[in-house]
Amino acid sequence: MIPGVRLVLLGRQGAGKGTQCVRLARHFVVPHLSTGDMLRSAVSEGTDFGRKAKEYMDSGDLLPDDVMVGMVAERLGRDDSSRRGFILDGFPRTVGQAEALAEITVEKPLDAVIDLEVPEDVVIQRISKRRVCKDCGTNYSVDTPPRYDWTCDNCGGEVVQRDDDTEEAIRHRLDLYREHTEPLIAWYEHRLLLVAVDGLGHPDEVTRRLIRAVDGRTRPVVG
Ligand code: ADP
Repeated sequence: MIPGVRLVLLGRQGAGKGTQCVRLARHFVVPHLSTGDMLRSAVSEGTDFGRKAKEYMDSGDLLPDDVMVGMVAERLGRDDSSRRGFILDGFPRTVGQAEALAEITVEKPLDAVIDLEVPEDVVIQRISKRRVCKDCGTNYSVDTPPRYDWTCDNCGGEVVQRDDDTEEAIRHRLDLYREHTEPLIAWYEHRLLLVAVDGLGHPDEVTRRLIRAVDGRTRPVVG
């Protein structure tokens, strides 16, 4: 039986979290919960909330903690994640969010928090080349495009550059990462949850490293 896992992935924008989380979610058979994807789907639904969220996202700003905590708490309360676990991608991003997550998961605490390490100069290169499927969120790069005319290999959706992947917004997001999210590394280290994984190299090699890092921290699914 494949064990479940309750995992958080930290890492700079462009570190490869999205790509690796999809693979880890498949490996451990748990849902991949990306707050960026959740927000982008609210934007594409055109709700009032989505319109407001888009303003923050396009300028690269963080949404308020209470909004994000409410959204994640609701998602973690659903059956799939409360039973087998989850992989959180993009949350927490502030110490306030991490404190709230510790309360939400008090009965079923996290197994590990992975810091996927990729230096800033490398991620700037990667993000400026990044292209993404509008419908399913699969990531591509101008170096590794989909097989046919910017049409997603996975779902046939249109593959585009994200509105917030402009040079200015990228630099702003990286500044916010340094200021608000990097302190979480020490925060989780202190709680003995942090595992650092090198995010450089072939994506398959990075996946192997991540699985190795998570194995041993997984637990059997009960009930
Ligand atoms: P990136 O990691 O490249 O910034 P994401 O897809 O994870 O991309 O997030 C896109 C945007 O969604 C962020 O720039 C921010 O505006 C918003 N967002 C996502 N997660 C959070 C969060 N935990 N707290 C606040 N804002 C968030």
